[in-house]
Amino acid sequence: MIKTFKYRLYPTKEERELFERTLELCRDLYNHALEQRIFTYKKRGVSITPFQQIKELPHLKKVLPEYKEIHSQVLQNVLKRLDVSFQNFFRRVKNGEKPGFPRFQGKNRYDSFTYPQSGFSIEGDKLKLSKIGSIRIHLHRKVEGKVKTCTIIRKNGRYFVCFVCEVEKVFHFTGKQVGVDVGISHLAITSDGEFFDNPKHLRKSEQQLKRLQRIVSRRKKGSNRRRKAVRLLAKKHEQIANQRKDTNHKVSRMLVDQYDLIVFEELNVKSMVKNRRLSKAIHEVAWNQLIIFTSYKAAYADKQVKVVNPHNTSQMCSNCGRIVKKKLSERTHVCSCGYTDHRDINAAKNILKLGLEAG
Ligand SMILES: [Zn+2]
Repeated sequence: MIKTFKYRLYPTKEERELFERTLELCRDLYNHALEQRIFTYKKRGVSITPFQQIKELPHLKKVLPEYKEIHSQVLQNVLKRLDVSFQNFFRRVKNGEKPGFPRFQGKNRYDSFTYPQSGFSIEGDKLKLSKIGSIRIHLHRKVEGKVKTCTIIRKNGRYFVCFVCEVEKVFHFTGKQVGVDVGISHLAITSDGEFFDNPKHLRKSEQQLKRLQRIVSRRKKGSNRRRKAVRLLAKKHEQIANQRKDTNHKVSRMLVDQYDLIVFEELNVKSMVKNRRLSKAIHEVAWNQLIIFTSYKAAYADKQVKVVNPHNTSQMCSNCGRIVKKKLSERTHVCSCGYTDHRDINAAKNILKLGLEAG
């Protein structure tokens, strides 16, 4: 499996100048190589291969000695990039798509160069680059696996490095399956009887949100005090969204680590917008996010997520299949078959059953 790791670089003024110079020389080479390919095709009707162009690099270095300042694999990579854009062009022509001929690169369009195999290494908090130097790197996380390529990227005046790595995929299968019921009093309840709650700080933020909403509606339209309150309200919304995201990341991680199959109820997205109290709609957005996060993580771990029709899942007895009618206020499922359980755990068990039946 291929994984990319990106880090911020902190070049000194001199290193920054070398980056700029390298980018500029690479861009020139790209444009000249493109010109050469067009020229030979027009004049002689033959296309020149990237290998032929790579073979000419030593000659180029004789004529233009500044190219000796650049690692030879970086230069080779420029010619390969050009070839990739030609291949994409030919493929699009073949498929009858809008072709888009390879373009000459303007001054600020050429923003990266690549060491495709060697010429780079990480030493402590420095990234050592051949022909450039040792640049300070902020390694906020460990590089995993076998590094295949190293690309230096310029973006809005800042520099980054991307390592493309071959990472071995490790699967942890548990042989366990679970149904998940989402709710308001608890974020999620599983068929194994595990409760996931929204954290206290999130509930506190939601109370603050309500208070801010009241303040905004009380203040006079167009007034400075209202504008200020609106700003605070927007900030609070953002904070809550982040807290929700955080919680959903944690819960989905726990689910995927513990289970090979995770079954959710399908959320009715249409009713999410229509005819519902706002708080309920907000909850449904959060539940939806939990399902999406779990699905992503499951796919990554080669595990499975299913969504099933929620019809009758809270009324049906998960033990005998009988319908046991109950109001929303009744929190316990009691069936004449002798089975008694927390209402939501019973529902989660039905959800799991439906998931397993769905094959
Ligand atoms: Zn029963």
